[in-house]
Order: sequence, then C-alpha cells, then structure tokens
Amino acid sequence: VTHNSQPHHHAASKGLRRIPAAIGRRRLRIVVTGGAGFVGSHLVDKLIARGDEVIVIDNFFTGRKDNLVHLFGNPRFELIRHDVVEPILLEVDQIYHLACPASPVHYKYNPVKTIKTNVMGTLNMLGLAKRVGAKFLLTSTSEVYGDPLQHPQKETYWGNVNPIGERSCYDEGKRTAETLTMDYHRGAGVEVRIARIFNTYGPRMCLDDGRVVSNFVAQVIRKQPMTVYGDGKQTRSFQYVSDLVAGLVALMEGEHLGPFNLGNPGEFTMLELAEVVKETIDPSATIEFKPNTADDPHKRKPDISKAKKLLSWEPKISLREGLPLMVTDFQNRILNEDEGKRV
Ligand code: NAD
Ligand code: UDP
Ligand code: UDP
Repeated sequence: VTHNSQPHHHAASKGLRRIPAAIGRRRLRIVVTGGAGFVGSHLVDKLIARGDEVIVIDNFFTGRKDNLVHLFGNPRFELIRHDVVEPILLEVDQIYHLACPASPVHYKYNPVKTIKTNVMGTLNMLGLAKRVGAKFLLTSTSEVYGDPLQHPQKETYWGNVNPIGERSCYDEGKRTAETLTMDYHRGAGVEVRIARIFNTYGPRMCLDDGRVVSNFVAQVIRKQPMTVYGDGKQTRSFQYVSDLVAGLVALMEGEHLGPFNLGNPGEFTMLELAEVVKETIDPSATIEFKPNTADDPHKRKPDISKAKKLLSWEPKISLREGLPLMVTDFQNRILNEDEGKRV
C-alpha cells in the first residue's frame, strides 16, 4: 500500500480518450466520513464514478444505508460502521471529513456528542492524515459566521457567534475543527483544505430533519401547511447538492487551503422560499407561522468571489431549477412511508 498524497500523472494519459479519468493516473483510495449522509453519499457517487476507491466511515446517526445501497457489491466501495470519536487505522490518500449531524434538530439532540464528534472526530481524522500523509478536507459551515454583522459574508470575516447558546455545540464545534485543521497544517505539515458550506438541499435529505427546504417540500407533499418560523423575513441562500459536490472536489484537487465559502449567492426570505415551493409542487399549498428558535441568524448569503477566482468554481443550478430535482425523491419516499404504515 502506498501513502503518497499526490496522484501520479502519467504522460500516457495524454492521447487516451473515452476512458474513466482514474485510468490516466494512479487510482486513489479515499475515505469519506459521514458518507452515508445526504452530502456524503452524493460525493461518494462522484468519486466512484471517476474511478477511485472509496471507504465510507459512518455511525448511521443521521445517515442511512439506503443512500449507498446501489454501491453494495462494487469492489471499489467499502462501508464501515464506525464512530469517528474513536481512533481508526486505515491506509488512504485523501480524507473528506463530513461526519457530523448537520441539521439543528439533530445536532441539538445530544449537544455533547456533537462537540465530541467535531473535536475528537476531527482530531482522529487529522491524526490519521498525519500518519499516512493523506490530504485532509474539512466540511465546515457558514454557521462559523454566527448571526453575521457583515453581509454578504467573506472568508475574512471572523463571525458573531454565541459561545454558550443552543447552537454553540455545532458552531463552536466547527470553529474548533477549523482551528485543529490549521494547527495540524502548520505544526505537522498535513495538507489540508477547509470548505465553509452554506445551506444545501437535494435528494436524500432526511425527510424529517427539520431543515427548512426538506420541511416545506415534505409538508406540501403531505398536504400540510408549510411552517414558517418567526416572521419569515430571515434570509438564507440555497445551494443544490451537485454544485456543492463539484466545489468540494475542486477544492481537494486544487492547491489552495481555503477556507472557501461554497454556497449559492441567490438570497431568499423564508416567505419567498415558501412561494417557490408552492409554485413548484402545489399551487394550493398554504403556510402557518410558528415561533422562531433561539439564536436564529437573521440573514445569510455567501460572498463566493474567492472560490470563483481560485477554484474556478461557481454554482450552476438555481433554486427554481433544483427544487423539482428533489421533489420526485421526496414523493417516492413519502409514498413508501405511507404504504409501510398501511401494512
Ligand atoms: P447528514 O446528517 O445527512 O450527514 C452526516 C453524516 O455523518 C451522517 O451519515 C451521520 O450518520 C454521520 N455521523 C454523524 N456523527 C458521526 C460520528 N460521530 N461518527 C461517524 N459518523 C457520524 O448531513 P449533511 O447535510 O450530509 O452534512 C455533511 C457535512 O456537511 C456535515 O459536516 C455538515 O456539518 C456539513 N454542512 C452541511 C450543510 C448542509 O446544508 N447540508 C451546511 C453546512 C455544513
Ligand atoms: N489517530 C487515528 N488513526 C491514525 C493515527 C492517529 O485515529 O491512524 C488518532 C490518535 O488515536 C489520536 C489522534 O488521532 O487520538 C491524534 O493523533 P496524533 O498522532 O496527532 O496525536 P497523539 O496520538 O500524539 O495524541
Ligand atoms: N425554518 C422555517 N420553517 C421550518 C424550518 C426552518 O421557517 O420548518 C427557518 C429557520 O428558522 C431558519 C431558516 O428556516 O431561519 C433555515 O433553517 P434551517 O434549519 O434549514 O438551517 P440553518 O438555520 O442552519 O440555516
């Protein structure tokens, strides 16, 4: 087993056409932690499709085998049930570190576990990267900006985060994970990358994870009113999952550490989002207002000029184009649920 962190580029790859990319270079062995989750499973699909070997590490807290079942039996794919809070020994070239509950409902469920996952989990994956000389990519979050006083948010902004609030286990956990990542880079020479991901949606999101896009889409399909928290004037920017996956891969393969904002700069109030969901799925859909949660950021929108310039990356899919792409998946899963109940 080799531990080289760089792919070998063979001159022979030049004149070869119509073959998977990985044939032109050495096949990589890549770990994706949290690979059974929403973003992770789409990333795994992309890495397998380009010809690499993928090992998923997941404890199935919010992830599901269903998201990967189409890869079972593929000799380049492996799934390990493991909690990243515990050490693990593997020989790999790259580590995409995604393991962490991402929706507020899930990360508040056991806040201490969320912190442990962010701190001990990230430490273990960095220790692994150091030992085998692997490249390490952290999926951080726009939540490191907290309730931002700068709008839109640039990577140079240090944020406005409550250290003792209900969201802190996630926000401060990710901030510590970023710190650890930079300390392993400076102190141990680990080749690292940091992505700050903004709200992302698409097929395979958990149906009931409480995030706004999945809630609204599932509610309209179930003929329930869309629950708008607060006055609905708070804003978010919604990115389709394939755009994010392209950004993560560009970041890993590029030469800049980051941090990079990866998000779609299109900004919507929750009331505008409800309107788009209504137009997309059912013109008779209704909304109902509910009290908002604590520390809810008032607005959020990425400045992505850094990623545009240094990674040549920008999102391609608008909210109006992306929403229909997740609706079929949600309809099928909600239908299966209903049939399950009838049996
Ligand atoms: P998800 O909940 O669908 O996936 C997270 C995965 O990590 C799940 O499969 C879960 O089982 C696994 N996991 C959680 N704790 C673990 C542990 N201790 N050990 C092993 N596995 C563990 O969430 P997602 O939306 O796919 O998010 C993936 C990553 O992207 C997360 O790190 C999240 O913080 C980050 N992110 C996501 C968004 C978004 O909008 N989706 C925004 C910002 C950042
Ligand atoms: N670690 C791991 N897999 C490895 C190497 C390290 O899980 O292949 C864990 C290790 O158990 C430790 C953490 O990563 O908890 C940090 O490792 P490092 O070698 O940087 O620190 P140390 O072990 O010296 O504290
Ligand atoms: N939200 C809402 N209705 C819901 C779920 C969420 O109005 O059913 C709001 C929530 O208050 C927040 C925004 O939508 O202002 C985005 O929430 P989400 O949990 O999706 O992501 P995050 O707060 O992490 O950006």
